[in-house]
Amino acid sequence: MELDKALDLIADVPDFPEPGVLFRDLSPLFADAAGFKAVTDALAATVDPDVDLLAGVEARGFLLAAAVGYARGLGVALIRKPGKLPRVAGRVGYTLEYGTATVELPEGVVEPGQRVAVLDDVLATGGTVAATCKLLEDAKAQVTGVSVVMELGALGGRSVLEGRRVEALRVC
Ligand code: 5GP
Repeated sequence: MELDKALDLIADVPDFPEPGVLFRDLSPLFADAAGFKAVTDALAATVDPDVDLLAGVEARGFLLAAAVGYARGLGVALIRKPGKLPRVAGRVGYTLEYGTATVELPEGVVEPGQRVAVLDDVLATGGTVAATCKLLEDAKAQVTGVSVVMELGALGGRSVLEGRRVEALRVC
């Protein structure tokens, strides 16, 4: 399937998770074999050849990182929301539009000096990915770039990630 057609499978859902927010729902894309393959291949092509490890952000980033990791022969560091990990190597808190959030890195998955590419489904304000990059860099890894399926350009995520390589399959 052509990449554009695959990306058209993403559904726009108004007023979720709260009134006024247009949520991009990737569920139909993940459920479509040809669409999921097209997006996996396109994301895999954004990952540098000398990357050692992928980092996937819970939860949809897990799916993408796992698929790309299989395609590229790379392992995946699972970047988790708090309270899920039995052994936490590091945590970074960040501010959301309303409230705060935290990402955690499991122990025993990242070695100092490793080159890590970060994968997630949607780049919105950039807070989640920026916190993930900090988490990895606190663990002395080198973040080579960030790849997402969709970037919501109006929310300014790219400016939060200034100086980093950001690849988006579609910018809305
Ligand atoms: P940010 O931290 O960039 O504001 O938000 C990005 C995080 O929130 C990502 O992990 C992403 O999964 C989730 N997110 C924010 N907005 C959307 C959206 O419209 N659709 C989806 N699927 N995820 C979103």
